[in-house]
Amino acid sequence: MPRYIVDGFVFHVNITKGKPPMIYLRCLEYKRLGCHARAVMPSEGSIQDIKLNKPHNHPPDFAAEEKIIFMRELKEVMTKQPNVAPRTVYATLSEMYPNAARETPFDSIRHKLNRWRRQVARLPWLRFSDLVSCCLGIFKFIRNPSTGDLLITQEQVYRFVQIVKEKKLWKCYKAACAAKCYTNNGKVVLRMGLHNHDIPRRYINEKRKEGKVFKQKLT
Ligand SMILES: [Zn+2]
Ligand SMILES: [Zn+2]
Repeated sequence: MPRYIVDGFVFHVNITKGKPPMIYLRCLEYKRLGCHARAVMPSEGSIQDIKLNKPHNHPPDFAAEEKIIFMRELKEVMTKQPNVAPRTVYATLSEMYPNAARETPFDSIRHKLNRWRRQVARLPWLRFSDLVSCCLGIFKFIRNPSTGDLLITQEQVYRFVQIVKEKKLWKCYKAACAAKCYTNNGKVVLRMGLHNHDIPRRYINEKRKEGKVFKQKLT
């Protein structure tokens, strides 16, 4: 479900309707905290166009975005690396997302982690090579002579922009998307912004067929 994060508040799409089509958003804390904050934006618009209709009944959470990514990565590792203990998975990702981890202690999500892990048992065998690659900092790239090799991480594609304070800054390969990430010493150390599009599965598959996808250590 698409989510929008505005000044530390997370909204999810309730419904899209009207002419011109408008996206009606509801605060993510609707159920948990009974927050009735709503917002609306043109479906062709961006986060800058969001108009808030009702105020929130809770303070903003500036770790909200990090938490979403933290949970997404926990789920990914729990399901793709079934041999790694949940506590180890949690501890490893906590180092990358310390703010999210502080607000989401292991014991509070232990059941969730185990549930994801149980679902794996029903999936077909996952490749051991993926586990090894991840531990060694080996990533998939797409060969692209004009922009430089494109980095694939979490099934999204990034192009290298520049070095910022000894970290490499990568931006989503889609020009209209604001998502970016920083890498350092072979690891993705920071992810910023959410993608405004789905996983570019078709694009990656096309490149794979063209023989342009390869694995390499991230430097
Ligand atoms: Zn709210
Ligand atoms: Zn993107």
